Amino acid sequence: MQANRILDRLNRAQQTAVTTATPQSLVLAGAGSGKTRVLVHRIAWCLEQGLAAPSGVLAVTFTNKAAAEMRGRIEDLLGRPLGGMWVGTFHGLCHRLLRSHWREAGLPEQFQIMDNEDQQKAVRRAIRGLNLDEAHWPAKEAQWFINARKDEGKRPAALRDEGDLGLKTMIDIYRAYEEASQRAGLVDFGELLLRSYELWRDNAGLLRHYRERFFQVLVDEFQDTNALQYAWLRLIVGEQANFFVVGDDDQSIYSWRGAQVENMQRFRRDYPRHELIRLEQNYRSTGTILDAANALIANNTGRLGKELWTSGSRGEAIKLYAAYNDIDEARFCVDRIRTLHAAGDRFAECAMLYRVSAQSRVLEDALRQAEVPYRVHGGFKFYERAEIKDALAYLRLANHRGDDPAFERVINTPTRGVGNRTLDEIRNTARLERLSLWAATERLLASREFAARAATAVTGFMRLIDDLAARIAGLGLDSVLETVIEGSGLVAHFQKEKGDRGLDRIENLSELVTAARDFEPDENDVEMPLLAAFLGHAALEAGAGQGGEFDDCVQLMTLHSAKGLEFQNVFLVGLEEGLFPHQRSSSDPSQLEEERRLCYVGVTRARHRLVLSYAECRRLHGSDFYPQASRFLREFPSELLEEVRLGGDIPSHSFALPAESSGYGLKLGQRVLHRTFGEGVVLHLEGRGAHTRVQVNFAGGGVKWLVAAYAGLEVA
Ligand code: ATP
Ligand code: MG
Repeated sequence: MQANRILDRLNRAQQTAVTTATPQSLVLAGAGSGKTRVLVHRIAWCLEQGLAAPSGVLAVTFTNKAAAEMRGRIEDLLGRPLGGMWVGTFHGLCHRLLRSHWREAGLPEQFQIMDNEDQQKAVRRAIRGLNLDEAHWPAKEAQWFINARKDEGKRPAALRDEGDLGLKTMIDIYRAYEEASQRAGLVDFGELLLRSYELWRDNAGLLRHYRERFFQVLVDEFQDTNALQYAWLRLIVGEQANFFVVGDDDQSIYSWRGAQVENMQRFRRDYPRHELIRLEQNYRSTGTILDAANALIANNTGRLGKELWTSGSRGEAIKLYAAYNDIDEARFCVDRIRTLHAAGDRFAECAMLYRVSAQSRVLEDALRQAEVPYRVHGGFKFYERAEIKDALAYLRLANHRGDDPAFERVINTPTRGVGNRTLDEIRNTARLERLSLWAATERLLASREFAARAATAVTGFMRLIDDLAARIAGLGLDSVLETVIEGSGLVAHFQKEKGDRGLDRIENLSELVTAARDFEPDENDVEMPLLAAFLGHAALEAGAGQGGEFDDCVQLMTLHSAKGLEFQNVFLVGLEEGLFPHQRSSSDPSQLEEERRLCYVGVTRARHRLVLSYAECRRLHGSDFYPQASRFLREFPSELLEEVRLGGDIPSHSFALPAESSGYGLKLGQRVLHRTFGEGVVLHLEGRGAHTRVQVNFAGGGVKWLVAAYAGLEVA
């Protein structure tokens, strides 16, 4: 029987979860215990058993990648394609809703999505519009304030300043920003959610329609939902629908963005008749990796508490590498990856995980030098590159003249002699007369208020946009992009740029045409205009670029974006105090716990091999740091770790190190003093000059290998 096939490869507890008849269920379980697998099988089960039609399923995942995978896995299980099922991220699903019901949502049909950068500029405009001093009211802070309020579901009208002048000003900025965005038909990420929440809340008929449709609502990574997302879910679930959520409190890593792990307890209170299911067997990692993860997370307090065990093998020890510096760290990891690849592992089964996205550059350099293909997820996003945003801004403006961020972006790119004075005039008029920048420019032209040169320049610009709009009407998406890129003058502009930079940009622009050619909207988005779907995709997509989705390449990403994924081999780099745990968490115990959960997420991504590394010298954001090894390293049981020494074959590095001729005056058997580890005895010396490494047995800290150049050892 088909259904048995679905249950076949699940353990008892997983089967219970998949087949539960209780309308509301919470699966609470640790990493790699099969939560996502259960979710996928549950959907397949419901479809197979006739408990729902594909169009009755609403499943929310954390990334677009996860959504695509989920759909693929269900189709594989059932052996047929599934139309009408809604699987996506909160943002993607809300975007779809707003495109279908823009009128009821109070938006213009051509509304556009603002990304973070657009939003910050818009907030800055609002601050200036209120004549506030930007030094006192930084746009970034106001942006943060606005987003946090939206995540709580609060509009300015719902906020009280309680006589607090600072708060009052923030609320004023929020209000001004909101009015301007509404006028221009622009929606930021938080707004996508809030607007579709209100759409359902305030349109009883519409809500009824969707409630009748979505009978099965499922959520992965439930621990990282925020207050508004939870409210949105509760609204659509109503009294009838089945509500199935899976999560792990130990993997809650987005509280800094408003996620509330408390939603798990809230769920338990709000649905008192729910079923709680625990999964305790881990199928992902070796015993060694699992023990390390369990020991690490045991240092956190206030956990819901879970046991994880595996029937799998112990596997290899976790490797620990103390690098001279970040370049050495990168080369070490890349060397290992090449060795693994030569032994038969795919590159795609190797992941390099790091705390902050700026760490990727050095890793990328090392990969490129070694000619190893790689792909960076998140962080460095294709659609965030300046030239891509320029081209898209032309397109957005041609599509919708009221798009102020697009207007600001390209009015003088390439330069056409529209100076700051002219721009200020336009901005002021727009603000005073509550017009879009485009409409304000038209107004100023009509009343001849520009200086002659400025008037010519802006007229030329407006003609260009109108002309582009006329030319792209009726064209296919890739021809639209081609026409816009060519017509905008951007290519000629970048050709003038010196060096490879300009060429790079032009290549990226042609990549954009390719992206448009390959673009296929989600089947549920086919009703929105293709251009709108594409622009929405560009604004929401976490970026393609480099290697293609299906190429065999090493996977690079921040720890945050590694959630839910798994790899044969994981390289967790930069385990240094100040970097990981991050500096920001040093004075706040709850933030330190979130950093530890992040480390737990990283460690539990590995199936077979885990390599940890730290550098004794790291160059980040242009400065050199000499950090201490991360406290997390001490929280792993030492018998699970094996320090890697490169022995005699230290690779010759070209990076600059302070030139020293000898072994820093160190001798075997000498007593030395280290600022962290205290007193110890030199056991070994290896390498020469800048590469000298010294092994010391510290009375308090055990045996360590250090780089003599950076260890700061004093003779005791
Ligand atoms: P995370 O918390 O990291 O998101 P998860 O709980 O969602 O993890 P999954 O990704 O669903 O875990 O599963 C981890 C791995 O274990 C996957 O490769 C999955 O296919 C495998 N797995 C889970 N359950 C079983 C099972 N019963 N038999 C065989 N493999 C399983
Ligand atoms: Mg998962």
